Amino acid sequence: MTRSSFGTIAVVGAGTMGNGIAQTFASFEAEVRLVDVDEAALQRGVGAIEKSLARFVKKEKLSQADAAAILGRIKPSTNLEDVGDAPLVVEAIVERADVKAQVFGRLDEVTPETSILATNTSSISITEIAAGTKRADRVIGMHFMNPVPLMALVEVIRGQETSDETTATVMECSRSIGKTPVEANDYPGFVSNRVLMPMINEAVYCLMEGVAEKEAIDTVMKLGMNHPMGPLTLADLIGLDVCLDIMEVLHGGLGDSKYRPCPLLRRMVAAGRLGRKVGKGFYDYDQ
Ligand code: NAD
Repeated sequence: MTRSSFGTIAVVGAGTMGNGIAQTFASFEAEVRLVDVDEAALQRGVGAIEKSLARFVKKEKLSQADAAAILGRIKPSTNLEDVGDAPLVVEAIVERADVKAQVFGRLDEVTPETSILATNTSSISITEIAAGTKRADRVIGMHFMNPVPLMALVEVIRGQETSDETTATVMECSRSIGKTPVEANDYPGFVSNRVLMPMINEAVYCLMEGVAEKEAIDTVMKLGMNHPMGPLTLADLIGLDVCLDIMEVLHGGLGDSKYRPCPLLRRMVAAGRLGRKVGKGFYDYDQ
């Protein structure tokens, strides 16, 4: 097994993605400073890492001692200044441009000017985030996939000013933690969501127009295209509100009507059918 090319890193945001990123780096022997503004969220994040490690132990992919060592390398904090002198900071907080701008402004002040500031954003412009700092050459997108410990891809997104050196360092770092990095440029949705979300949106159009029932649409894509799950099931997993937000970003950013969000997607979100996280989306999960 390789070792993280950074001996110490910081992760800001201990939610779904942040705790997975922290766990992954710690599994590759990095010391991880995990910061969240919310104490309860921080505790939940650490709890999620414990649970995930326990599953690896149960499957005999990890020894109890290694799981304890990984957990021991993660230092939780509610103080942003505790990112300290980490040479790499990965931000994984809420997907809001104003909140990210505020956090990057602060990170720019509290970290050494040589530190690389990466963002796990799904859709916000890296160039825009970087422009709020004095080190746009060292700001980059490091887009992990959910669940982070299991998914191989990291989409590495270069902002307008991101340097070749920063990109090479982050590509190498991603490989050192067992991932396959892919380089992309900073356009709305990057590659992953630019391709995935219109497919999901089109599946919702198929449902709205009565082309087929939801189960049929999912089965076509599963069995016909070898996708591990159908697009409507996947939309429920991602969250229909998140899908709608990303379609709005594509539509607004690219200005092409082919990215218009499906009216049924809007209606589902308005009705509070947000997917698995609330127990109902295209499918019901109550049972
Ligand atoms: P989440 O809501 O699970 O977690 C966000 C965390 O950030 C929360 O714990 C919150 O307390 C914390 N936070 C909010 N403001 C903060 C601040 N100012 N400082 C420190 N912590 C703060 O969100 P998530 O699903 O983990 O998403 C995080 C980021 O990753 C978003 O940018 C999202 O677009 C991106 N992303 C999500 C997924 C996914 O499948 N969930 C996949 C890829 C990328």
